[in-house]
Parts: sequence; C-alpha cells; structure tokens
Amino acid sequence: MKPMPEKNNPLSVHLVSPLVQWYRQIRRSLPWREDKDPYKIWISEIMLQQTRIEAVIPYYHRFLAELPTPTALAEVDDDRLMKLWEGLGYYSRARNLKAAAKEIVSTHGGSLPADYASLRALKGIGDYTAGAIASIAFGLSEPAVDGNVLRVLMRVTGREDDIALAATKKNVTEWLRAIYPSGADAGDLTEGLMELGERVCIPAGIPKCAECPLRDQCAAYPHDLWQTLPKKSPKKEKRTEDYTVLLLTCQGKVALCKRPDSGLLAGLWEFPNLSGTLSEKEVLKRLTDQGLSPKGIHSTVNASHIFTHIVWQMKGFSVECESPSEDYTWVTPEELRDDYAIPTAFKAYQAYFLKENG
Ligand code: SF4
Repeated sequence: MKPMPEKNNPLSVHLVSPLVQWYRQIRRSLPWREDKDPYKIWISEIMLQQTRIEAVIPYYHRFLAELPTPTALAEVDDDRLMKLWEGLGYYSRARNLKAAAKEIVSTHGGSLPADYASLRALKGIGDYTAGAIASIAFGLSEPAVDGNVLRVLMRVTGREDDIALAATKKNVTEWLRAIYPSGADAGDLTEGLMELGERVCIPAGIPKCAECPLRDQCAAYPHDLWQTLPKKSPKKEKRTEDYTVLLLTCQGKVALCKRPDSGLLAGLWEFPNLSGTLSEKEVLKRLTDQGLSPKGIHSTVNASHIFTHIVWQMKGFSVECESPSEDYTWVTPEELRDDYAIPTAFKAYQAYFLKENG
C-alpha cells in the first residue's frame, strides 16, 4: 500500500477496501477475466472502447481464436484484420492494435511490457487503457480513469470540477494514484470503479445508492447531489456532411474502392460516393464524365451514420454499368459478404445490394 494521501487529496484511502470487497462479490464472469493474461485484457479493453460488453463478446472470441498472441496479431494480413473487426466500428483501433503488436514483438520480446510508461508508449494505448492493463494484468498501482470513474468520484467527493476538462481527469488520476493498492487489489479496484459507474452510480437516471458500497462516505448521497453532479461543459455540435453513395453494378458484381490510408475509416473498403446530395441526372453526368457507361439508375436507400465529430447523411443510387471500369474493384455478392470489411456507415448499402443480388 502506498503512503496515506496528502491532506489536499479529496479521495480517502478508505474507499479502497469497500469497493474491492464489493467488486469481488458482484463480479461477472467474462471471457477476458478468466485469467490475467495481459494480451487478452488489452484486446478486450480496446474492443470495449465505444462498444457494449454483450456486443464485444463474440468479436473477442473470434479475434482470440484467430490471433491468440501479439505475434499472430503483428503478422495478420490487413484485410483479414479489418474483416475480424468488421461491425465494431472505429477501425483505427484495429490498425493501432496491429502497430502496437509489431512494437511488442520487436521491442518487448512478444509480451506486453509490465510497466505503465512502456504500455502508454504503444500505439492506441492511452492513459485509461495503460492504467487498466497495468492494474488488472500486472497488479500495479495505476488507476484507469474514464467517464464512469469521474462521475463516481465527483459524486463521492461532492466536487464541482468540470469533467470535460483534461485537467480534471489528470487531477483525479493523481488523487487515485496516491491511494491505489497493488497486487490483486489494484485490478479489482479498477474493475470495481468501472462496475460501480456502469451498474450503480449510473450516468442517466437515479443512482442505486442503496446498493452502493461507498454510500457511507458519499457527499452526494445525503443531499441527492447526483442530480447536479458531475458538472460537464457541453460538447461541440457535430458537423454534418452529405454524400451520394453509388452501387455501381456490372455483370452481377458491385464496385468497391479503398479509402485513403489516413483520415476517417482509413484504408477500408467502401462503395463509391460523391460529396453532396446529387440528383439522378447529376450522378449520370458525373459517371459519364468519368468514362463509365451507365445503362440505368434507380434510388436505393437513404442512411445516416454518426461518428465522434461528424454526421454523414447519405442518399443512395444503384447504377447498372455497361462495362467494369478499372478504377474500381468489382466483387461478387459472396466476396462482398465474406472477404471485404465494409464500415458500418455503408452497411445499409451492402444489405441493399445483397438483398437484390444475394
Ligand atoms: Fe453514486 Fe449514490 Fe454511490 Fe454516491 S452513494 S457514489 S451517488 S451510487
């Protein structure tokens, strides 16, 4: 155990034991908790970013069955990796996993490093994930602070710090680090804080204070301060972008193209698309200018997709072409379904094509 916190630490070391004990009573059996394998914990933590536990489990099993070690991950073909990740979204997570795996193989002998700074230096591993792996897999006194943890601790302490600010997260991390245990307690405290935020001190609705192991020491509890805590300044509005998505078909195949190697959905396959909401006439003109010979056109579906900072509004057309242009990769329905990772943003168009041609 670390020395007692300094006087200016709003967190008391007395929150550790009740949380750890509570977590041990309520812990769910999850596949990545069967052992403390750092690789499994790393993969699960990355998958769980932005994705619910129930949705992650089948992906996790498939991924681990095919890529059971950092070495296997470092060597996997990019398209195969994207296929394994297909549907989870935020594909840069998968690309970063592979880049980090290569680093683990070349610099750390094929095993995840057992210290926070080396973990944090790996691609795609931020403060939270480094803390989660360090404490859960290696029993180090390193906290993992996310929105759940910030909410719980602002309520427990009754503080009004703005949790949207990086400074708040940094402070909370330091306060926690000063009281963090080591060994099995470290991982169980990390998981206990997460579980408490997800299941008891919930983000929306009335927290289940009657079930909370921190109720006796919670500043929010006696005065129902959960209604106003935590404080959080509003996020910026998302930007909207309009696109016209084309199912270019020819002899039973559909055209795909690859997105650029950097930026949103980098390196993934997509259906050809044009900026803006175009009419049939405008689409036909653009395709003719491009050297394609469209034979017929009809509307498909309208769809939208929300990214972190952007919303895509998409209008769709299907266009039968006279001959396959070399500008695109033309694939059969089977290949589209089995071999190409199509981002969730385009799933409505993939489903449309497969329904018409499957
Ligand atoms: Fe949250 Fe209630 Fe527990 Fe306080 S007592 S931490 S408000 S669940």
